[in-house]
Amino acid sequence: MECKIGLIHGDGIGPEIVREARKVLDAAASKYGHTFSYTELLLGGASIDVHGVPLTEETIEQARACDAVLMGSIGGDAKTSPWYQLEPSRRPEAGLLGIRKALNLFANLRPAYLYDELREACPLREDISRAGFDMVIVRELTGGLYFGERKTEEIDGVRTAVDTLSYNENEIRRIAKRAFDIAMKRRKKVCSVDKANVLDSSRLWRKVTEEVAKDYPEVELSHMYVDNCAMQLVMNPAQFDVILTENMFGDILSDEASMVTGSIGMLSSASLNDTRFGLYEPSHGSAPDIAGQDKANPIATILSAAMMLRYTFDLDREADAVEAAVRQVLKEGYRTGDIWSEGCTKVGTAAMGSLIAERI
Ligand code: NAD
Repeated sequence: MECKIGLIHGDGIGPEIVREARKVLDAAASKYGHTFSYTELLLGGASIDVHGVPLTEETIEQARACDAVLMGSIGGDAKTSPWYQLEPSRRPEAGLLGIRKALNLFANLRPAYLYDELREACPLREDISRAGFDMVIVRELTGGLYFGERKTEEIDGVRTAVDTLSYNENEIRRIAKRAFDIAMKRRKKVCSVDKANVLDSSRLWRKVTEEVAKDYPEVELSHMYVDNCAMQLVMNPAQFDVILTENMFGDILSDEASMVTGSIGMLSSASLNDTRFGLYEPSHGSAPDIAGQDKANPIATILSAAMMLRYTFDLDREADAVEAAVRQVLKEGYRTGDIWSEGCTKVGTAAMGSLIAERI
């Protein structure tokens, strides 16, 4: 298969971790007979340095011409970097929001998986962490409260602020379909999270999700209120396969789910639109404190590349191989500094990438 992949190296540790992910992708391509070609795109601080803005039309067009984009992280140290002297709309993060919008990336996927070998980092009670967990949060990314009308005004001398939470059935249907498609590649369970006991938008969410479920008879659909879900994530995370939810609930729950794994350098993510295109990136930031020191953990980016193989290119066998290689390296005791514990072998970014690539 021929795949056109855009690479955004980004800022801070970005170039180091993207380089390792590419190493692993090239190993998968050569083992399974694919041709991956790469186009380098500028975004964030790296784009400001060259063009004075964090995102250009050229980058958007180049991204559109690719099948998928793999990104490191963008941004710098807000206290010391000159990028943060610029007005907010010209800072690195504005580039990321801009590219998500330009490419209509409405579906955000955040897996949370607890590796046996990293169980010690899990902050949950031992009997809960022993059961492990393996879930994906599918969050609607372009609608709801964050994009609704808002205003602050004074009514009869009282300052009053209003935010609007609005969803139409088309927005709900397209994200629900995504969640069911993903469940079909996993354990075939979708838990739709809402607040249907209070919110109209949640009641519509529930109805439309049930309509979509009819097209996926193999997938088991359940519903859960968001307050209960926040509790269940720490009491019994093993029960979840795919969690489907709207923008703000997903923002909060995906951070909660990822933090119970305890390892920021391991968390991948994807943002998808209604074609097969996706923007794949680690959940963590650009870690300027360790940039250029061969200390960053490249695994979140490597696992994001595995998601790209699975969700954009439908290369499940190849994605499985990358994930298995990551597990194998952890089993053999290799760790970057952030996940290192007594008795393990500490390695740098480049060595970790090579170890994983060699095990494909
Ligand atoms: P961060 O995630 O970059 O770092 C938080 C802590 O985790 C730091 O101590 C860092 O060294 C460590 N860390 C993060 N990733 C690691 C890895 N792969 N391996 C080892 N250690 C790792 O968060 P921050 O410090 O709040 O943000 C730094 C910059 O990143 C800011 O400019 C912020 O805006 C940006 N940011 C970008 C994204 C993105 O590109 N999507 C996301 C979050 C933050």
